[in-house]
Amino acid sequence: MIHKSTFTADPGKVYLVGAGPGDPGLLTCRGRDILQSADVVVYDRLIGQELLQQCRADAILIYVGKAAGRHSMTQDEINVVLSEHALRQLSVCRLKGGDPFVFGRGGEEALHCLQLHIPFEIIPGVTSAVAAPAYAGIPVTHREVSTSFAVVTGHTKAGAPADLPEADTLIFLMGIKALPQIVESLLHKGRATTTPAAVIRWGTTTEQQVVTGTLANIEARIKEAKLTTPALIVVGEVVNLREQLQWFDNPATRPLWGKTVVVTRAREQASSLVAELSRCGARVIQCPTIRISPLENNNALDQALSTFASYNWVIFTSANGVEYFFRHIDERSHDARLLGNVKIAAIGPATNAALKKYGLKADLIPATSISESVAEEMIQRNSAAKVLLIRATKGREVLQQKLAAAGWNVDVVPVYQTTADTSNANEVRALLGQGQIDWVTFTSSSTVTNFVDAIGADVIKAHRATFKVACIGPITAKTAEENYLIPDIVTSGSGTDELAVALCEEAQ
Ligand code: SAH
Repeated sequence: MIHKSTFTADPGKVYLVGAGPGDPGLLTCRGRDILQSADVVVYDRLIGQELLQQCRADAILIYVGKAAGRHSMTQDEINVVLSEHALRQLSVCRLKGGDPFVFGRGGEEALHCLQLHIPFEIIPGVTSAVAAPAYAGIPVTHREVSTSFAVVTGHTKAGAPADLPEADTLIFLMGIKALPQIVESLLHKGRATTTPAAVIRWGTTTEQQVVTGTLANIEARIKEAKLTTPALIVVGEVVNLREQLQWFDNPATRPLWGKTVVVTRAREQASSLVAELSRCGARVIQCPTIRISPLENNNALDQALSTFASYNWVIFTSANGVEYFFRHIDERSHDARLLGNVKIAAIGPATNAALKKYGLKADLIPATSISESVAEEMIQRNSAAKVLLIRATKGREVLQQKLAAAGWNVDVVPVYQTTADTSNANEVRALLGQGQIDWVTFTSSSTVTNFVDAIGADVIKAHRATFKVACIGPITAKTAEENYLIPDIVTSGSGTDELAVALCEEAQ
């Protein structure tokens, strides 16, 4: 069942929410409810952008973590930020990495609220102490190998921890700096130099790095791998299980692991491609080049609606066209029955899937998802008639031209517009400069031309040898070729799943 919440965070309350270890999918349902409805969100350094994007558009976002060249807020200052907003009758989501009560100073924040009679709630999170090992294929307990685990801070007021707890598996947070002292204490306590150890950096994210070794060599190995924070250390025999259980950072199970893939589709449309690529292990960078928005006035559609009975066919050339058409007719108190007596054509399966949501099925879906094929198949199979063509303001003219040439009477009605979006172009330009991008994907001709405009043809030409290009469909591929982006992969259909499969095959 899809989780759809009607929850609203209470005014004047502080919610201490565990954000999970990094993978945005590891936020709890209750945590998401609060994050999505809070007036104020107070967050730390390790909180990812994906989570913050879930906040209300008008939420007040307050960063209280460390910034380069600037001291972080003291705990007292953070406490005041929380209470000040709650006392102004706002709902405050205090978003903390992992679990708020595992070395997160959540207890102090709750005590501060208590002192001021501010109501609070604690929403536990998935702690990195257990989740990062899990994503590295290391169970913290395992029958006959480990019957206990302890989570230890590597950083106390007094420095490295001197007295270590007795447990089969030890997990050190904030321990990278103190690793030499930790190893020394462990050896001093009688652990063998051959005891397995692992260091996990950015666990559960697409940046995850894991270095394994023993107490004798783990320091040298992380130095060699230049591994830095945020990272945790796991010590114990369970580390050996990674050899068999390594599932996440493993190209054998997730073929796009280690690959960085740019998605140029509009944010509103990108979710399925992003999800499929992520599932295959890719680090996905969104670089939406277009923004989809409704039209300021829909007079042309209103005009068409007033004479709707005269149409024999309605053609939809995109899923967006379907969405915006139905939004508009809904505002005009119509529903899907309006289309009861017309035939419907959809350019491809994705557009047909959008129609299905309204209980409709296209009468015609061409074998290839391009305008030329829609026109050809309509002309071949039917006699000329009156057509309503639903599309974006900008679109290819070939469909109406071909139909008109064959004697059809075509009314072209735009129902949405696409405008340029350059919000993430700088990040992508920087990554291109560092040679970090493996693939750039294009899902339509407009994503190609908009990408070139946003990034700059000179930048693309300069780095062209460092990345590969994948396109959905031959028309997109042709536009890519014309823009120095000769594709390495061209899928035949219009589906994003095919694109993800093609990238996986190429990677193997
Ligand atoms: N409350 C948090 C821990 C806060 S202390 C939790 O429950 O996870 C911060 C330390 O947690 C970091 O220095 C690092 O040691 C560890 N840590 C947090 N996120 C991590 C991650 N994704 N991968 C590895 N270690 C992580």
